[in-house]
Amino acid sequence: MSSDFSDIVVLGAGIAGYTVAAELIRAGSQQRIVVIGEEPDAPYDRPPLSKEFLLNGDESALHFSELPQSQVEFWLGDPAVEVDTGQRVVRTANGRSLMWERIIFATGTVPRSVEPSSAAGRIHMLRTLADARWIRESVCRASSILLVGGGPIGLELAAYARNQDLKTTVIDAADVLMARSIPTVVGEHLYRFHTQRGVEVRLKSPIARIGESGTVYLVDGTEITADMTVVGIGVRANDELAHRAGIATEDGILVDEWFRTNVPSVFAVGDVARQRSAATGLYERNETWSSARDQAVALAKILMDPEGAAPFVGTPWFWSDQGGMYVQGAGSVRAELQTIRGDLAVESYSVLQWESGRLVGVASVNSPREFQLLRKVIGMQASLDPDEISDPGCNLKMRLKALLQ
Ligand SMILES: Cc1cc2nc3c(=O)[nH]c(=O)nc-3n(C[C@H](O)[C@H](O)[C@H](O)COP(=O)(O)OP(=O)(O)OC[C@H]3O[C@@H](n4cnc5c(N)ncnc54)[C@H](O)[C@@H]3O)c2cc1C
Repeated sequence: MSSDFSDIVVLGAGIAGYTVAAELIRAGSQQRIVVIGEEPDAPYDRPPLSKEFLLNGDESALHFSELPQSQVEFWLGDPAVEVDTGQRVVRTANGRSLMWERIIFATGTVPRSVEPSSAAGRIHMLRTLADARWIRESVCRASSILLVGGGPIGLELAAYARNQDLKTTVIDAADVLMARSIPTVVGEHLYRFHTQRGVEVRLKSPIARIGESGTVYLVDGTEITADMTVVGIGVRANDELAHRAGIATEDGILVDEWFRTNVPSVFAVGDVARQRSAATGLYERNETWSSARDQAVALAKILMDPEGAAPFVGTPWFWSDQGGMYVQGAGSVRAELQTIRGDLAVESYSVLQWESGRLVGVASVNSPREFQLLRKVIGMQASLDPDEISDPGCNLKMRLKALLQ
């Protein structure tokens, strides 16, 4: 059977996959582009699923702008199931096949689950629009919710659940909230914030097992049963398809600074990509919207001009909106010196991480303007005086301008 042909095939219609296609068109590409997506919904943005969408249910606000159909085709609700890099063919679950000149994996991540699978149907995740619809509908019928995992998604859901007046419990095995992504001082602040709003937060509470009825048994013997349980304990790279195709993976598809895998004409981008850092030579995988989008913009430039494009260098950053508590972070979470700019008491400040006089990390609470300036300083390798930068009297905008000159 002969296959259809596309110059560029993108696997995954999330922010990374969509942005590659959109940027290629913006740059004037005349090539045929096919985006193959597993989910049936028109491509949409994920971050609002745990925020605005829960409150307003407005699906139209989630969708990305439409792209010209004459140039980009979306094959939705039909996941790629096999990629043959020798024949340069991709096959989908519905039996379609497509030959390609260049293929891009933008397959993102899948949530980590908790055992046993016998509790399936009782334990839910929040990854897709379908999950978010289910949560919105179920919250109306529930009076209690258990959130397993005190990361951004669990805490955003906790803020929403309290807003809907549910008895809300958050459990986490760590001793501080959002331990992986923010400094302890911010995690402690979030603990106070959520508990004051009536959330029961149980830290250092690993799960022993989950019963078939959905009851959660903690290692310390506590049993928790709630009308709804949502698990948000992190994600892993969705790289199995690539692995089966003989592409090098290691919790992520290994790519160089130009998003090239070990197989010619095969690229990976976004949350699924584990990319070599131009600065350190180490491979890193990010799980943030900004990183997926920035990488995709860079990859589109590379595809348009493979010889001339510069290697990708980025400073990934994230945000989380937890019922009015706006948290942002970039770079290292801990370092040899930590300073605070702003006032913890008025709930607007930035926590700065320093190594040898260089800013290597920032986490901000309700301070978005400052955050956007400070995150630009990370990676500049500029030698700075931590006391000067941490002084709220220091005009960051002017200081940054001087650094850029
Ligand atoms: C509820 C939620 C809230 C979030 N909030 C924030 C936030 O506030 N700030 C932030 O920085 N980040 C946030 N994130 C993370 C952010 O959304 C991700 O970093 C970003 O979506 C990654 O984009 P991606 O395109 O690489 O992958 P994904 O968004 O995971 O998209 C990958 C797509 O590929 C599809 N796919 C997988 N396998 C196949 C296949 N074989 N064939 C075809 N298609 C396939 C998947 O179904 C999926 O649609 C949030 C994530 C979630 C789930």
